Amino acid sequence: MGLEEKLPDGVLLTTVEGLVNWTRKSSLWPVQFGLACCAIEMMAFGGPRFDSARFGMEVFRASPRQADLMIVAGRLSQKMAPVLRQIYDQMPEPRWVLAMGVCASSGGMFNNYAIVQGVDHVVPVDMYLPGCPPRPEMLIDAVLKLHHKIMNEPLGPKRAAKLADKQVELIPSSYKYAK
Ligand code: SF4
Repeated sequence: MGLEEKLPDGVLLTTVEGLVNWTRKSSLWPVQFGLACCAIEMMAFGGPRFDSARFGMEVFRASPRQADLMIVAGRLSQKMAPVLRQIYDQMPEPRWVLAMGVCASSGGMFNNYAIVQGVDHVVPVDMYLPGCPPRPEMLIDAVLKLHHKIMNEPLGPKRAAKLADKQVELIPSSYKYAK
């Protein structure tokens, strides 16, 4: 027998972390960041057939200041990398990054000097989604897994301490390929 059974109807018990994280995961607003073919699948995800509105995230924001999720959909060129980093830096905390597709996750078949070999060279990635391209159902699955991750995140100073080791410096391509 738990304490809940002794409470009157309509009373729920939870933690502050549980409540705050539930509100955060229920209203993720993605910043528009379609880079290549994967972006078409991301657009389908926002349309009526796959209906991202079910998860409170149909509002793709044109301003990073109004967004808390960056879905990097497509391959990232070296030229675009500083722009991606700048947009990420303009997003307020808390913020999350989802690397959509094999190109964003690891460079994919574009193993060449022009493409960043994974956006985790530029920003910290919270969720990797494989596939070329991943179907919108796969993106939904990745978003639900991200929800689960958000629900188990600490708040305040504990979150800041956890994020402290996740800082990623922008690596110049010349330095990376010199290794
Ligand atoms: S993973 Fe495939 S579909 Fe996505 S950007 Fe790369 S080549 Fe295009």
